Amino acid sequence: MVSFSPARTGFVFTSAHSFCLVLRDTQSFAFFYELQFERLLASKVAMSVSGKRRVKDLLLQKDNRFCADCNAPDPKWASANIGVFVCLKCCGVHRSLGSHISKILSVTLDEWSNEEIDAMIEVGGNSSANSIYEAFIPPGCTKPGPDASHEQRAKFIRLKYEQQEFLKPSLRIMSDKTNPRANINKGLMDNFLSSSCSQNQDGKGRSIGKLKVKVIKGTDLAIRDMMTSDPYVIFTLGQQTVQTTVVKSNLNPVWNEELMLSVNQKFGLLNLKVFDYDLFSCDDIMGEADIDLQPLITSAMTYGDPSMFENMQIGKWLKSHDNALIDDSPVNIVDGKVQQEMTIKLQNVESGELDLALEWIPIES
Ligand SMILES: [Zn+2]
Repeated sequence: MVSFSPARTGFVFTSAHSFCLVLRDTQSFAFFYELQFERLLASKVAMSVSGKRRVKDLLLQKDNRFCADCNAPDPKWASANIGVFVCLKCCGVHRSLGSHISKILSVTLDEWSNEEIDAMIEVGGNSSANSIYEAFIPPGCTKPGPDASHEQRAKFIRLKYEQQEFLKPSLRIMSDKTNPRANINKGLMDNFLSSSCSQNQDGKGRSIGKLKVKVIKGTDLAIRDMMTSDPYVIFTLGQQTVQTTVVKSNLNPVWNEELMLSVNQKFGLLNLKVFDYDLFSCDDIMGEADIDLQPLITSAMTYGDPSMFENMQIGKWLKSHDNALIDDSPVNIVDGKVQQEMTIKLQNVESGELDLALEWIPIES
């Protein structure tokens, strides 16, 4: 199950795949899945901590010491469903939007339900929310300051939450404005896909991009002949199969070979198998592994055109007991390209590792 939460700034995690996107604006917000999980657990377990205390703790975070909409210091109000802390003046505008868009509560005066507190904590505060709701403020539209007029403030807040004008264009959901947040959650992936898809010529699915797999090297591969092996690697994605050349008599082969695969909307796991080339009989298998492409592709689509960003980390495939990763595998924007390096421990074999670098190449619009 993939769950999207725009209020967590493109932060995505799944229970099955365990990966995450890293917040765009600051490294200090690099929450990871385990952290979220722990926090979620903590929020469920810590019944002894009063709800109000938890909200106040969140309010004390540095980014929540200023109004999310106008930067006025010391906000005392919160929009419980959007997940931001705001000042009294902005609070008035939020109320005028209606509680279906922004449900305003006082941090000190109102009684909060557990659900409201959990929702607030899950969003993680003003920076987190703003990096979604203010992701793309167009030139000529400036954020109001603490002394802005009511009109300036109201215009900005309406554009930000009601019209959602500053979301990344690909995140905007045009239908049913009555529940924008739920809509973003639900429609995020569909929207990504429909905006960047093209029909495959064979009609077997909509192509969403290409995957370049660079097979760098193998380390300590298994012996299948007398003393050594002649390894090569086969990758399978859906119906497609690509393979490297054979490296003769080498348990630490260096390929540095690039392979291309087309990726459809319903892409699954990328499977790789290492074989020992045998002239006289069937090739022997030297291990295999599955690669989860979700972290790479979802991060890439969340960020859109990578050439717009500086070099940075945008996501991560996390090592876990049920995948073949040796270490966490970060997804990075490098010189305008979305890339992911990884070292894979070959499965169902006595030894062997494989170094790979993936690159996502979106369909040109
Ligand atoms: Zn304000």
